[in-house]
Amino acid sequence: MYEVVVVGGGLAGVTAALRARELGAEVALVERGRLGGHLY
Ligand SMILES: Cc1cc2nc3c(=O)[nH]c(=O)nc-3n(C[C@H](O)[C@H](O)[C@H](O)COP(=O)(O)OP(=O)(O)OC[C@H]3O[C@@H](n4cnc5c(N)ncnc54)[C@H](O)[C@@H]3O)c2cc1C
Repeated sequence: MYEVVVVGGGLAGVTAALRARELGAEVALVERGRLGGHLY
């Protein structure tokens, strides 16, 4: 069971997921393509 689900693994999504983990949440990150978003 996840406490936070982030949709989109771009800069914003990865940052949000990492920060949520730092704060102790169980996090899922869902990305439809490649991690990194438009920069990669
Ligand atoms: C051509 C181009 C060049 C750029 N060059 C630079 C640069 O040189 N330097 C710079 O600082 N900024 C640059 N930017 C801007 C930078 O890419 C964006 O500001 C930044 O990527 C935004 O991050 P984001 O996480 O909000 O969105 P995005 O990077 O767009 O990431 C969103 C992610 O969500 C995923 N997604 C979307 N919908 C779904 C869904 N329904 N389910 C699962 N996954 C989903 C997408 O696949 C994507 O990986 C550029 C942008 C573009 C378009």
